[in-house]
Amino acid sequence: MIEAAVIHIIDDDESMRAALPPAKAADRHYHIEAAGMRKPPSGDIDMTARQIVLAARPKGRPQLTDFRLEETAIPTPAARQLLLEVQYLSLDPYMRGRMDDRKSYATPLRLGDVMGGEAVARVLASNHSDYAEGDILLAPTGWRTHALSDGTGLNGRRLRKLDPTVAPVTTGLGVLGMPGFTAYGGMRAIGKPQPGETVVVAAASGPVGSLVGQLAKRAGAKAVGIAGGAAKCAFVRDELRFDAAVDHRAADFAAQLAATCPNGVDVYFENVGGAIWQAVLPLLNKYARVPVCGLIAQYNGTSGGDGTDRLPATMREILSKSLTVRGFINSEFAEQHYAEFLREVGAGIAEGSIRFHEDIVDGLENASEAFIGMLDGRNFGKLIVRVAAGIA
Ligand code: NDP
Repeated sequence: MIEAAVIHIIDDDESMRAALPPAKAADRHYHIEAAGMRKPPSGDIDMTARQIVLAARPKGRPQLTDFRLEETAIPTPAARQLLLEVQYLSLDPYMRGRMDDRKSYATPLRLGDVMGGEAVARVLASNHSDYAEGDILLAPTGWRTHALSDGTGLNGRRLRKLDPTVAPVTTGLGVLGMPGFTAYGGMRAIGKPQPGETVVVAAASGPVGSLVGQLAKRAGAKAVGIAGGAAKCAFVRDELRFDAAVDHRAADFAAQLAATCPNGVDVYFENVGGAIWQAVLPLLNKYARVPVCGLIAQYNGTSGGDGTDRLPATMREILSKSLTVRGFINSEFAEQHYAEFLREVGAGIAEGSIRFHEDIVDGLENASEAFIGMLDGRNFGKLIVRVAAGIA
């Protein structure tokens, strides 16, 4: 089911509030799977808390048995603490990396730890002077129904308040949250698209890719999206208004991409890796920029096993074309670009010039299946779990 609604956003921080336009409206789409596992909330009031923990480390593609749903008591907040009820939980590709016991920029989960993640949450009780009962916050709660917080958000920032009367709070998890900022920071600091250039991005219907292409258009560049399947490609072309979309599942994908980019590629925003990188590499122009944002094709450790080592070819292209290839984690751009991101993208959403798509799944118990599906490409847009019963 896909439906449209009016959306608005706001942030509690005064500088952010000033940065945002007063009234904002744009399309918002829900895509709710009809699969049997995904039941609507019952509306019953649940007195116990529930959480999903890492039960086993995945070998390749995660299985449902790698997760465990547990019941616990709803915790009591101490001094300067908040008790939060999770309304919407964000599911993101980076969570796959935390399930492995492998050195990374973030600490891996231990077996038995609650799966990490950001959520839209309501304050049920507050012993903290900055927050009141009923406030709606963006908070790193993890995969659970209830959580305690001392008011600290991601990267040490204080928890961001969201006003549901002004904006659909789910935007804080997608287009106006971490994924949207990843697109914004990566394009501003590394991609730097110029008028007339060609920008290519894969996972183009997702929260990062969809904004990358729209920012390319705003800069006067040609935006080419790569997505899986006809429906996603149509959305990227017709709704997001990219110049073109290419289906990476097509047998002649590399040839189609080359034909779509007759002037080569000046910015390749890398979200996927694997076969898509191989198709883009020969198309890169001299001085092309490659913000290396994500490698989702490799997260389950099963792709790239065709026995062909592409590294020598990659290094040859980097050298001979003077490419700029730079990896990044979005948080490194926060200090310089976060306020302008909220201002610029918030205004774009307001006037309807920036569009997005949300894929909302009902019930914490369905989070694991939805997460596995995202790594298979079964999500369509920003993947969010509606955790609390009885919310719109
Ligand atoms: P998405 O919802 O776009 O990611 C899931 C999508 O990735 C799937 O729907 C699928 O889309 C695509 N995908 C999955 N596997 C493959 C594959 N093997 N080949 C091609 N496409 C595949 O998530 P986000 O927008 O949140 O994230 C996009 C990327 O950005 C990820 O790699 C993520 O890790 C990275 N990221 C990096 C951050 C940073 O700070 N560096 C921060 C946030 C995200 P389709 O069906 O169209 O192929």
